[in-house]
Amino acid sequence: MSKTYLITGGAGFIGSALCRMIINETNDTIINIDKLTYAGNLESLSLIAKNERFNFEKIDICNSDDITNIFDTWQPDVVINLAAESHVDRSIKKPDSFIQTNIVGTYVLLEGARDYWGSLKGTKRENFRFHHVSTDEVYGDLENDKTLFTEETPYAPSSPYSASKASSDHLVRAWQRTYGLPTLITNCSNNYGPFQFPEKLIPVIILNALQLKKIPVYGDGNQIRDWLYVEDHVRALIAVANQGALGATYNIGGYNEIKNIEVVRLICSILDKIKPLKNKNIKKYEELIEFIEDRAGHDIRYAIDASKISKELSWFPKETFITGIEKTIRWYLKNLNWSSQFLNLNLEFDNTNKEIL
Ligand code: NAD
Repeated sequence: MSKTYLITGGAGFIGSALCRMIINETNDTIINIDKLTYAGNLESLSLIAKNERFNFEKIDICNSDDITNIFDTWQPDVVINLAAESHVDRSIKKPDSFIQTNIVGTYVLLEGARDYWGSLKGTKRENFRFHHVSTDEVYGDLENDKTLFTEETPYAPSSPYSASKASSDHLVRAWQRTYGLPTLITNCSNNYGPFQFPEKLIPVIILNALQLKKIPVYGDGNQIRDWLYVEDHVRALIAVANQGALGATYNIGGYNEIKNIEVVRLICSILDKIKPLKNKNIKKYEELIEFIEDRAGHDIRYAIDASKISKELSWFPKETFITGIEKTIRWYLKNLNWSSQFLNLNLEFDNTNKEIL
């Protein structure tokens, strides 16, 4: 039977990928609510915008009246909460909106869901799910050894971003334990892929390289992240939201532990192949790499043990980092217009270097 999803933050990077997959691969209906901050973009939804099963409302998840109305009007079967402030550097400069959206917004949504779920009867009530999307950054960082984050790893967030996400996870667990709300939490590693806002590491590398701008690398570049292609993440989200054990947490990871500097060098070498430089002064893109002062409190290593979701829900990532990153680079090359719409935000790139495009 088809379902109605309430997706929050569905105009962002991962949320828009989730909306595209649900509309393209199921018969389900979506009501997507998003405040459309700098990170939200309806262009990312243009491929499904006209589909009659896709609906959008511009709403702030901190507004409890609007949230109550959405539940009353749409009577969702599944909530997937992705609305968040998500950029660590911004959280260090100005934590306020992280506290509001990530903590207060999650609280407002939980209360809206609790009221609504309380009013449901029969199978509609039994089948209701509230799925909160979180990050592996809540676990803090790991030493450079073989240890992995499991679902039992204690929380030890380092940045205002990860602390706000950890707080929201605790609220979700408390609403499950105290009120019996049928919740699920997923903690995922770093995502990459099409439509990622050009302030995050991978689009910055690609777009700076394409403009022959310096490619900034924090510290010595030896920080390790476990990269997951965004479509692999959204397949995991759909599996957990529909088949996950109520009250459970699932870690999601790509089995792709790579040092930041290796990510930069790999992207440069792929660009050398598919977009060779014709510039006299620079022969290879990696000549643009510039090491800059490290981020305050920068975590050394994140690495996920995703064996629980693999065993229980038969989920495995389809992409390796090599296949996923090549798809991603080709997408940014083909869709420079999507990236160039953010130029008025004074981002560090422009689209004028015709020589290499
Ligand atoms: P994003 O910044 O690209 O998108 C966030 C979306 O939320 C935007 O569309 C924004 O407009 C919307 N939003 C922000 N505040 C809102 C509010 N108050 N009300 C309604 N909408 C609001 O983020 P993303 O990378 O797509 O991440 C989505 C979720 O996944 C976040 O919760 C994030 O913590 C989590 N996550 C992200 C990653 C990653 O690598 N990107 C990894 C693990 C987990």
